[in-house]
Amino acid sequence: MDMSFSVHHYALELDYKPHSARLTGRAVLQASCSSLSSFSLSFGPLRISKVLVNGRPARYGHAGGVLNVRAAVRGAFTVDVRYSGTPKPISTPEWGDLGWDELTDGSIVASQPIGAPSWFPCLDEPWSKASYHLEVTAPSPYTVVCNGVLVDGKVSGSTTRWTYSMAEPMATYLATVQIGQYVEALPDVWAPARLRRLVAHDFGRQDAMIELFSSLFGPYPFPRYSVVVTDDALDVPVEAQGLSTFGANHVDGRRGSERLVAHELAHQWFGNSVGIADWEHIWLNEGFACYSEWLWSEASGGRSADACAAAARDLLRRQPQNLVIGRPPRADWFDDRVYKRGALTLHALRREMGDDSFFALLREWCARNRHGSVTTEDFLLLAGHRDLLDRWLFKPELPR
Ligand SMILES: [Zn+2]
Repeated sequence: MDMSFSVHHYALELDYKPHSARLTGRAVLQASCSSLSSFSLSFGPLRISKVLVNGRPARYGHAGGVLNVRAAVRGAFTVDVRYSGTPKPISTPEWGDLGWDELTDGSIVASQPIGAPSWFPCLDEPWSKASYHLEVTAPSPYTVVCNGVLVDGKVSGSTTRWTYSMAEPMATYLATVQIGQYVEALPDVWAPARLRRLVAHDFGRQDAMIELFSSLFGPYPFPRYSVVVTDDALDVPVEAQGLSTFGANHVDGRRGSERLVAHELAHQWFGNSVGIADWEHIWLNEGFACYSEWLWSEASGGRSADACAAAARDLLRRQPQNLVIGRPPRADWFDDRVYKRGALTLHALRREMGDDSFFALLREWCARNRHGSVTTEDFLLLAGHRDLLDRWLFKPELPR
């Protein structure tokens, strides 16, 4: 993969037919480099019909998930790729199927960490952030929810074209398209009609969560926050930028999964706005989101963060202590120990620093790195308390 260029903007025009599962797409990338005679993008098995560079047809090769474009470019340039086919998720041994996937009635995109090339050609690195224009045409009974603000929804006969704009820089894995027969259960919360009442109850405290997290972490970083609940069950909910997706199984009318509602929302600060420069820093996403579950529990009259920490510690003590969460190997990026021990790391730091300094640190972290990409070292530099953090992040044994 060629890292010697950057992409600033993706304009994606997609036409999707749920019944035949056929996608026709056009991706226009605005990129820049110093000088190259060829460059590569990640792109899955969809069939490419044409590649234009700066408006002129370019020679290209497309194999093994890589689109190699042979064109001399210098400074700012545009790449225009036309493609079509039946999108399929990217299968991985570690994380199962990623990216564009069909639902019983509609489709879902959940790309973390490497599924984005299943539906558009991209520079698929977590540090590579760009603005997006997403235009999706689908049959009119379907609702299309994408990242960002809906700027236009045009009905023309049997189809509707939904246009969204995500102006804030976004990593490729956080770009998403959700297509289904959804109704609005709450403002910006989409669900199948049969789940409307349960969803309205279970997501009813989301505004209070946004208020809590805004007071602890700083202002909510995007213009809006949407949720989609699919009619199908999902293994886990997934965060996208300005949007999270839950399965029908995460809704019970008793807020049985509210912990996850808080977790996905917290990713808007930790993971989405403050992104990671590489996947090995994943505890900065998952540890913080997991800790946010405990903060919500504490603030909403549930278990205190101390009690949540004690339970997590108990759980970790009974698991192998052979993982360095500050630098996990690829197979363990999403290991539960990264989540739980990451949260415990923050709890230990909070107890050492005291609440005022600790939450001031989190606000400084979010403000300084808003819409950027960070590393664990960046956090150590800002937080100090290096001895404590070293024991939690870079030693496998669980600290006392
Ligand atoms: Zn998470």
